[in-house]
Amino acid sequence: MSAKKEQQIIKKLLSWYENSARDLPWRYDHDDLGNPYHTWLSEIMLQQTTVVTVRDYFHRFIEQWPTLEDLAKASEEEILTAWQGLGYYSRARNLLKCAQIVRGEYKGLFPQDIQELLKLPGVGPYTASAIASIAFKGTTVPVDGNVIRVMARLHSFKIPLPDLKKDIERLVVCYGDTPKPGNFAQGLMDLGATVCKPKKPLCKSCPFQENCCAYATNLQQEIPYKRDKPQKPTRFGKAFLITDHQGCLLIRKRPGKGLLAHMMEVPSTIWSEDREAVEKSFEELCGEGKITSLDKKVKHTFTHFHLNLDVYYGGANDFSPRCKTTKWVRTSDLHHYPLPTLMKKVIKAGVVS
Ligand code: SF4
Repeated sequence: MSAKKEQQIIKKLLSWYENSARDLPWRYDHDDLGNPYHTWLSEIMLQQTTVVTVRDYFHRFIEQWPTLEDLAKASEEEILTAWQGLGYYSRARNLLKCAQIVRGEYKGLFPQDIQELLKLPGVGPYTASAIASIAFKGTTVPVDGNVIRVMARLHSFKIPLPDLKKDIERLVVCYGDTPKPGNFAQGLMDLGATVCKPKKPLCKSCPFQENCCAYATNLQQEIPYKRDKPQKPTRFGKAFLITDHQGCLLIRKRPGKGLLAHMMEVPSTIWSEDREAVEKSFEELCGEGKITSLDKKVKHTFTHFHLNLDVYYGGANDFSPRCKTTKWVRTSDLHHYPLPTLMKKVIKAGVVS
């Protein structure tokens, strides 16, 4: 595509954005730069999560921690508790680390340079570009799923995902020459989310209709092509709702590394594809105790596997294994603890709430 056409596309998108931008709580007037703290926080929350879900969380975080300084002083448990339900909890832990580094090493001000931004925990190439373009007028266009889809259709790329991403990253360099890089980046995100949607794109309302190669060849539903994804394995396990005579529930802290690190959970066996290994773990944990099956299954899907947990209940004397991090908690106080969605489902299955 010629430089003239690229400029035409930039102009069309900026003008569309002026009139059609989504009203999002972390955005400001179209001519203003984004607040770096708000831009960073929203972009971290938006990784793997929809705008609809993020809105409320964003409001709550800003209310609880109005500035980066406030957030940097929070405890990890406070952040994890506020993050409950958003999933991918490493984001929450990195949020705190990042806030502390920006406060300590950058005098509380986010760096403007992409390479510096990339050094911060939880900030990858997409988030660094988004912060740089939206908050500092940097000219690198952030490439997320929406941008890949719009650009792949506009230029009719036939390469399947995920390889396609690299080509789009090379392509968008040509679109960096704009007076309003933040608006251009956000315009692409919005166009992908509201017009050039994954299914049934609204080509009749699209500012790019005349320039779009996929539309011209009626391939807009097909592009971007996808390679078949490998099937996720299923792991099995047994989770225990152990209560004492006061009706308190036994919970424990997960290890500091790996899946759901530092979150709270009810005790459970190992989670494994090998059912025999799960049974062995069950015997080791429960021995002769009177642990009873609730005859309820909880299903949950993580990035790399599905999990099926059988739910059991028992009394304090039936379940001996304890560790330093186990504690008895009144069910009415559970909301003060960072419980991942999976554990909320397990507790709900036992109607302990
Ligand atoms: S014309 Fe259709 S396929 Fe092309 S960019 Fe616009 S919405 Fe997407």
